[in-house]
Amino acid sequence: MKVLSVASEVYPLIKTGGLADVAGALPAALTAQGVDMRVLLPGYQPVMAKLRNPVKLVTFHDLLGVSASILASKMNGVNFLVLDAPDLFDRDGGPYTDAASADHRDNWLRFAALCRAAATIAEDGIDDWKPDLVHAHDWQAGLTPVYMKQGKAAATPVVMTIHNIAFQGQFGPDIFPRLGLPQSVFAVDGIEYYGDVSFLKGGLQMATAITTVSPTYAQEIRTPAFGMGLDGLINAHADTLHGIVNGIDTDVWDPSTDTMIAANYSLSKPKKRQTNRKALAEYFGFRDTDGPVFTVVSRLTWQKGIDVLTEVADDIVAMGGKLAVLGSGDQALEAALTAAAERHPGKIGLVLGYDEPLSHLMQAGGDVILVPSRFEPCGLTQLYGLRYGNVPVVARTGGLADTIIDANEAASAAQAATGFQFSPVTPDALRQALRRAVRAFSEPKVWAQLQNQGMKADVSWNRSAHRYACLYKELLAEQSEP
Ligand code: ADP
Repeated sequence: MKVLSVASEVYPLIKTGGLADVAGALPAALTAQGVDMRVLLPGYQPVMAKLRNPVKLVTFHDLLGVSASILASKMNGVNFLVLDAPDLFDRDGGPYTDAASADHRDNWLRFAALCRAAATIAEDGIDDWKPDLVHAHDWQAGLTPVYMKQGKAAATPVVMTIHNIAFQGQFGPDIFPRLGLPQSVFAVDGIEYYGDVSFLKGGLQMATAITTVSPTYAQEIRTPAFGMGLDGLINAHADTLHGIVNGIDTDVWDPSTDTMIAANYSLSKPKKRQTNRKALAEYFGFRDTDGPVFTVVSRLTWQKGIDVLTEVADDIVAMGGKLAVLGSGDQALEAALTAAAERHPGKIGLVLGYDEPLSHLMQAGGDVILVPSRFEPCGLTQLYGLRYGNVPVVARTGGLADTIIDANEAASAAQAATGFQFSPVTPDALRQALRRAVRAFSEPKVWAQLQNQGMKADVSWNRSAHRYACLYKELLAEQSEP
């Protein structure tokens, strides 16, 4: 089975969030299960710098008006295909924004070109390899099935995965003539969305199957509260909608081998975890190591409930806890957290920015990973927390609800609990969950049981990759039915 995966960020070449982790780890897990995967992504500056022995396979003289080529490189067992288009991707800033954090103005063209290249690979193959199926991730890959429907690859199945339905890739109608699509596609059953062009909507309309990254989120996006305007469309395609929970790369995230933490430890040899706890306290300038250390590794946004967090920051200190935050995002939230850290020196620490090694140390040295999201398609930091013994306190929504077992009486008695859930996302409900966590932390046996249970949980890709492989097989079988 030959599958082309298309995504705008793929770890370890480029990452801004969970999409990269998934778009990197899932193909690796599927390869291990015998699927012949190739992974297409844009050749941003950092990607080009990391490529090992790239081989040029195809040249485009006019890819939606720009010249480009596709380079192949195999790294860590994964076959990467990189769209090298300097006019689109060789520039300063991040994958989506410039150095001043404003969206690149030609994002529509940058990602339309990615999709046009993916469709061309599906149509003509590359290097004597033609995919049986294409797996497109999020809006940036959304036009892939739209282009494919217009040509020779119209019958090739496409799986469209929604990692966050809040990001839809919506642009003014003026871009439409430059996408190289027939006018008929600019319609309600195509990519037209309230007079605009929506990449995600187009992708969902044309995909053979839609998946999202947890069963609960799959249900939630069928409602107006979570569907962000696309709930009607999702309901219309409910018979092809699947919720498959994300796994994590258990090689990258393994406390027994992780080189980014202060000392390695494991379920059977947990003692050295304390060394990480001390290192974390030092890093954040905590005065002592008393009380639970609450950690947050997150985009600092409304979605992530960071405004609610800022409202309980003083309470965390009053309860005898510490708070360590790593993230960046909305200026107002950054300012509110900065103010909280200034109010409580030695007790609340804040690092604004993006720091992969520190994110590992925080999981290894924290006591609680706090995820108060208003909505969360899957969430990965709570899964890293489970694996590292950093007990999750999470909002009961999306993938958080699916992956954490609340320490209620029954689950605790059965020794099945792995963390704490709360709902709704309000300061009061969060405070109550924090109190429960502080109480459990004060009983070492109870806490050790929670940590053990989490560290034992299977958060690998094995099961979920198998589910994707089964879905691919089903779609290919349906396609070959007369
Ligand atoms: P989302 O993709 O919505 O941002 P996820 O929980 O799915 O949220 O994934 C976030 C990923 O990004 C995790 O791997 C997390 O560790 C990482 N991350 C988020 N913020 C930072 C940061 N400031 N520094 C380092 N890693 C971060």
